Amino acid sequence: MKRINAIMAGLAVCLLLLTGQAQAQNKGLVGISMPTKSSARWIADGDNMRKIFLAKGYGVDLQYAEDDIPNQLAQIENMVTKGAKVLVIAAIDGTTLSDVLQQAHASGIKVIAYDRLIRNTPNVDDYATFDNFQVGVLQAGYIVKALGLDEGKGPFNIELFGGSPDDNNAFFFYNGAMSVLKPYMDSGKLVVPSGQLGMEKVSTLRWDGAVAQARMDNLLSAYYSDKHVDAVLSPYDGLSIGIISSLKGVGYGSNGLKMPVITGQDAEIPSIKSILAGEQTSTIFKDTRELAKVTADMVDALLNGRQPQVNDTKTYDNGKKIVPAYLLKPVVVDKTNWKHVLVDSGYYTEKQIH
Ligand code: BGC
Repeated sequence: MKRINAIMAGLAVCLLLLTGQAQAQNKGLVGISMPTKSSARWIADGDNMRKIFLAKGYGVDLQYAEDDIPNQLAQIENMVTKGAKVLVIAAIDGTTLSDVLQQAHASGIKVIAYDRLIRNTPNVDDYATFDNFQVGVLQAGYIVKALGLDEGKGPFNIELFGGSPDDNNAFFFYNGAMSVLKPYMDSGKLVVPSGQLGMEKVSTLRWDGAVAQARMDNLLSAYYSDKHVDAVLSPYDGLSIGIISSLKGVGYGSNGLKMPVITGQDAEIPSIKSILAGEQTSTIFKDTRELAKVTADMVDALLNGRQPQVNDTKTYDNGKKIVPAYLLKPVVVDKTNWKHVLVDSGYYTEKQIH
């Protein structure tokens, strides 16, 4: 009996020590709301943030909404109810969160827009993202270079794809790209045989690859029976893969029918493989490890009454306020530098690619 009592007392002391330690480590709960697991980048974003926040002593509630708006709303409401101190949100539709964020603000919860701007609410404190306009500039700049437009080559045929119209980023990508492409269109060196220009014509709801594939099928059959498509502006790897399937379906990439120059974004593994196979031409790498770090620093600052570090206070007007932002640099990746950028940096192992 004495021995059992002694063991029980020992266990109680251990438990006390453990819970004491947990409390000392627990700086509060961070609610992380991600849009979907259907794209690898958001999985990496969530994993990187979870790692960093846990290491810093925060609790983490990480949720994915599978691109379903009511689902994301319910998940965020639940985080508020659980007493999160901060919400880190990559919105599916940047305009749908005003009510829940009003509620969050009333409870003193800080809010960070993650990667995608949250619109139409004053209740967003800061924005951690990449230079989204620059993403478009880099994608279009790659097309200009690959086609040799500045060496006087052309005219060439191009088709344009945009991202999801409820994602603020999609407009920045498109406008950035058009800032580069428009002069060549004006001079006739780039021609859009479909005439489909502007986000209202070229956007792709929910960034859905199947939707892009179907649109490319239509473009090819309606406008390219006697023409060759030389370039496709695609803002995201998941769309590029769909577009490439469509092109292959009508014989591009075989029997001397040259694949067009095709851009992308996110450096997802299937697209790196596609680049190595000579199908997709380039992508844009956005290091989600860096974005997670910037976000965690913002959270530390906000919870300690400091101003988070930002490097842009002009660009991101969300309709109610200009949201102070930290913009990271996107990087072009193609078959010449993928190993250096993605493998040497430890983002991927070479085995994941080959
Ligand atoms: C992100 C891109 C991503 C796209 C589709 C955008 O908001 O900035 O990196 O390709 O969403 O998930």
